[in-house]
Amino acid sequence: MITDALVARLCDRVAASTADTFNTVDVFTGGTLAKVPRSSPEDVAEAVEAARETQRVWAGVAVADRIAIFERFHGLLLKHAEEIMDVLQSETGKSRRDAFLEVSAPLVTIGYYARKAPKLLAPQRRQGMLPGLVKTSELRVPKGVVGTITPWNYPFALAFMDIIPALIAGNAVVLKPDTQTALCTLYGVDLLYQAGLPQGLLQVVIGDGPVVGTAIVDTADYIGFTGSTRTGREIAARAGRRLVGYSLELGGKNPLLVLADANVQQAAVGAVQTCFSNSGQLCMSPERLFVHTEIYDDFVRRFLDEVKRMNLAAGYDYSADMGSLTSQRQLETVQKHVEDARAKGATVLTGGKAMPELGPFFYEPTVLTDVTPEMLCYDNETFGPVVSIYRVATEAEAIDRANATSYGLNASVFSKSIEHGERVAAQLKAGTVHINDGHVVGLGSADAPMGGMKDSGIGRRNGAEGLLKYTESQNISAQRVPLVTPPRWLPFGWYVKGMQGLLRLIRRTNIR
Ligand code: NAD
Repeated sequence: MITDALVARLCDRVAASTADTFNTVDVFTGGTLAKVPRSSPEDVAEAVEAARETQRVWAGVAVADRIAIFERFHGLLLKHAEEIMDVLQSETGKSRRDAFLEVSAPLVTIGYYARKAPKLLAPQRRQGMLPGLVKTSELRVPKGVVGTITPWNYPFALAFMDIIPALIAGNAVVLKPDTQTALCTLYGVDLLYQAGLPQGLLQVVIGDGPVVGTAIVDTADYIGFTGSTRTGREIAARAGRRLVGYSLELGGKNPLLVLADANVQQAAVGAVQTCFSNSGQLCMSPERLFVHTEIYDDFVRRFLDEVKRMNLAAGYDYSADMGSLTSQRQLETVQKHVEDARAKGATVLTGGKAMPELGPFFYEPTVLTDVTPEMLCYDNETFGPVVSIYRVATEAEAIDRANATSYGLNASVFSKSIEHGERVAAQLKAGTVHINDGHVVGLGSADAPMGGMKDSGIGRRNGAEGLLKYTESQNISAQRVPLVTPPRWLPFGWYVKGMQGLLRLIRRTNIR
């Protein structure tokens, strides 16, 4: 459990020079969990400077030696997984099952980049301007200091899935976790230092987004942000003024399509698993279900059976299917969306109320029908355990309605035929599409980049892109003999003719 000694050790890792603190909430009880230090913009400036110093040395460390630290970190994460889950659950109120999946995600990230990074970061020979006469290479140079800003819903996974490739690529990182969920992130940071990360390379600052987050955006060399679309826009505008790069992993209003040829029971079980994962506070969770009319009644009956069977509890074992919402603010948003829908004529098939008997922020898994465009939950992200089901007459209608949103993060398609699912997936405007699953297999397939289209983001995590975004490509080209400047004795017209002849030869022989 979380002792004062543990909190003190973790808080020591925060770059904060004053005695100012925040109280965080023990979500299952509503009591105070911990006092965490508050950093100031001056602390951020110092953290960035200290990180910059260390980064200069780190950039010269061989990639294999950098990776060795993360291999040790992998072992430490497995060894301390239970305690990390305890902290994660107290700070977020999520179920142990969700906490387990969350702690596992960075293990996949380490496994993937430990294998792929040495080749991806190695200098690559490229075709020179004139084969044999020009030698060209592409280098991957770290950005410098990466600012990583993360939200409260998956505070451990999202921080480490981004920090790991940024550090392996040779950068330093200044990390700002959400205040409420700082301890679990600090736990991981502490383990990373135990694994041998050079002191100072990973700095943690804590504070309000508009103050401390902004100070990072104004000083770091690259920003990796995960959070709401609203904040993402502000960060992009600010980073744009400084001409520094950024990647943004933002919100969604994800569709799930149950096609006429779906295995209805598999679709019902899969939909429950993904819609109510982390109490629906998952950016990839579907909130809109489009079900083909031929199987609609059957699907709704089975889906409701599964929802009603869910076990909600505030516990540190694996018995609960779903835990709590994370905050009063989140509970209020969910209540507002459901009450608004109810008042405007939606039907509540199940759920629709808070469960204070379980904990202060618990809310029932809720299923709505008859949801119309004037209702808040129609196209705004609820980010809670609330889904709307829509009957569709054709597959084309399902695709059109799935795409009728400003978001484009994740989508799911259920069909007995993977090929059929793939054909539908290709027509969906979403950065990730899961077939016969909601969000797990795409997230776990670290070799393929994932992220948002439209208002759901810019840039990708995972895959080569998820590593290389933390680097600048550098083109180094050398002419082996003087080519570009003709000798003084050669009339320039002759030089032009000679060069044109050479270009023709290259084109004809297609020299690569
Ligand atoms: P948020 O945008 O309010 O906050 C996210 C982080 O940004 C926090 O650390 C916050 O302190 C900081 N922040 C806030 N204002 C800032 C500013 N002006 N400048 C710099 N930093 C600032 O989002 P949230 O409510 O914490 O998170 C929920 C949202 O995140 C949902 O929309 C969800 O869909 C999205 N999300 C997306 C992904 C993804 O991978 N696409 C993953 C998880 C969550």
